[in-house]
Amino acid sequence: MLHRGAALLLLLLCIASVVLAARDYYAVLGIGKQASDKEIKSAYRKLSKKYHPDKNPGDETAKDKFVEVSDAYEALIDPEQRSIYDRYGHEGLKQHQTNKGAGGGRHHDPFDLFASFFGGGGHYGHQPGVRMGPDVNVRVGISLRDFYNGATTEFRWEKQHICEACEGTGSADGVVETCPHCHGHGIRLIKKQIAPGMFQQLQTTCDACGGRGKAIRHKCPACRGERVVRKATTVTLKVDRGAARDAQLVYENEADESPDWVAGNLVVTLSEKDPDNDNDNPDRVDGVFFRRRGDDLFWTELLSLREAWMGDWSRNLTHMDGHVVRLGRPRGEVVQPNHVETVVGEGMPKWHQDNDSPYHEMEFGNLYVQYVVVLPDQMEAGMEKDFWSMWQKWRKQVGVDLHQDSGRPEKPPVRDEL
Ligand SMILES: [Zn+2]
Ligand SMILES: [Zn+2]
Repeated sequence: MLHRGAALLLLLLCIASVVLAARDYYAVLGIGKQASDKEIKSAYRKLSKKYHPDKNPGDETAKDKFVEVSDAYEALIDPEQRSIYDRYGHEGLKQHQTNKGAGGGRHHDPFDLFASFFGGGGHYGHQPGVRMGPDVNVRVGISLRDFYNGATTEFRWEKQHICEACEGTGSADGVVETCPHCHGHGIRLIKKQIAPGMFQQLQTTCDACGGRGKAIRHKCPACRGERVVRKATTVTLKVDRGAARDAQLVYENEADESPDWVAGNLVVTLSEKDPDNDNDNPDRVDGVFFRRRGDDLFWTELLSLREAWMGDWSRNLTHMDGHVVRLGRPRGEVVQPNHVETVVGEGMPKWHQDNDSPYHEMEFGNLYVQYVVVLPDQMEAGMEKDFWSMWQKWRKQVGVDLHQDSGRPEKPPVRDEL
């Protein structure tokens, strides 16, 4: 008796947990009640890939989540179902679906939904017999400033999508028949007479259906029966601080879609754009003209003869995040032409996997400043005279021994003459 009671209680608890397991659809997708269709789609796109059983082998929780995400998506993307759900919740929606009979047009199979979203058979490419579409490579130019500060930007490319109008069937009325010419095989055998009474059998692709084995009477007007359409697609791109100039980012299964394959990867290769002072430099910082090599930055600074020789000058270099690097010399400190000064820690941020973590301390490369000394082409006559007489006065008294200053050995090596 006691056992039966315990069993009943257990059963009740199970039912309770099943009811509890039906989580709020908005929470499942991590979106707000006012989310647009675009946000719903984007949430589904992200989460369905994350929890796809192919990516989480043996993980039952992930599989449940995958199903949950597709249920939530289907309920919220349909305006009628969404409004019922908003008003009456899970129970109301379930009743509505039962009333409509056989699922009310729902996909039922979360893999079918996944396939209609990403193309292919609803699985990732590692199953035998599933074709992978080709990878697509895109190069995106990023300004040095965005490499330095990190940036979230967008780029557009012409992506092949499964036609939404016909859901990838190519047919205007949804009717797809077996090709009557090849009986669905996609190939035809042609008998060719090569000599009287002698025939050769040739195999060719069925020209009526283009090898697909299917025939469409009324072609979809949107894709002209091609089942796919190309249209500009915007992709969000996150550039990490200090990302390498030619870093690659892989968007799994986001290359061209086709009903015939699982979409391949979209591979984005970054490259550094030339500095564009008009468009990329609203704050007029000098840093956009830095040159980058690895984690280090390079800059050329011009000095006048007076500055190089006499000192007493300063420069404020605005770095790419707006902070100022101060260069300068006090009076009497000489800078030799082409001297390279190392400013430690003012180079690029060093990319690190944990860059975003508050516990990770950002390290930086160096900034190398090369000084170029510019001599005046012309002088006012009076100034020229003054300088000339000053030189005349001093050259006799303290001449510079160029040989000693050159750093060459004191005496040429003595060689025995035979
Ligand atoms: Zn179409
Ligand atoms: Zn055919």
